[in-house]
Amino acid sequence: MKAFVRNTCMVLTILFQVVVISHSAQSQPDDRWQSGSSQSLRGEVLTLYCFTETKANRWTPDEKRVMLQALQQAQEWLMGQAGNWQVGLQFEAKDLLGGEVWEVDDIPTGTGSGAERVDWIRKATQQAGYRNAKNAYQKLSKQYGQSNMHVLIFAKADGISYAMRYAHGMNKKKYQLEGVLVYQRYDNGAEMPVPAIIAHEILHTSGAWDLYATYAQTREKQAKAMELYPDDIMLRVGHDLNSLKADKLTAWLVGWNPVEESQFEWFRPEDFKK
Ligand SMILES: [Zn+2]
Repeated sequence: MKAFVRNTCMVLTILFQVVVISHSAQSQPDDRWQSGSSQSLRGEVLTLYCFTETKANRWTPDEKRVMLQALQQAQEWLMGQAGNWQVGLQFEAKDLLGGEVWEVDDIPTGTGSGAERVDWIRKATQQAGYRNAKNAYQKLSKQYGQSNMHVLIFAKADGISYAMRYAHGMNKKKYQLEGVLVYQRYDNGAEMPVPAIIAHEILHTSGAWDLYATYAQTREKQAKAMELYPDDIMLRVGHDLNSLKADKLTAWLVGWNPVEESQFEWFRPEDFKK
């Protein structure tokens, strides 16, 4: 009996350690980029989407449907990827503007320069009647009983889609509510693998780094990523979502993979400075 008690205690101790380890490893530890509304891709996550257009270039109902199907595919893929790491994830999607399409004067093309407009989320929340991004985040969290959320703006324009993220030290009123701007097509007008792009950008809001060469990421790191994580969605996107995955590094960054490896930090790009 005594031995049994001791064994039980050992089992409990081991269980306790496992719980503590997995808890502390839920997200990249102490990263200033893990601090906005898109806290982590686990449990229930709310996607608030909306459509924006100009007078000269409007969404058709069919085009909107295609985008919403792409969102659903992206979310299903993300849930599957989280599942590969034994992490439960579900999404809820709501129209931030209750079905109204937001008309703006101009939608600048995103060119992947790093100098793109970053006030889209705040402007979208003002369009929805909130004072600013922080106020919108507080009210929406209360309304949906859900603090883990991001905004997804579908822009009727061509460009390189991008994420707008919050980090400690930024202005909360402007940036606390995080999100992404998804264009209809690439900046050269080419058809875009929208579901993969959406998944890639949502991963950014939860802390994932680009693994391909950008204004903030080096060719050397891209080359190494091609060796180590050739199918990672932060390295490449494509029409076949089944050929893509969230590999060890990306999964660690978003809190799915609890095992940190020494080379991970080396991949940190300039736009995710500590
Ligand atoms: Zn990216």
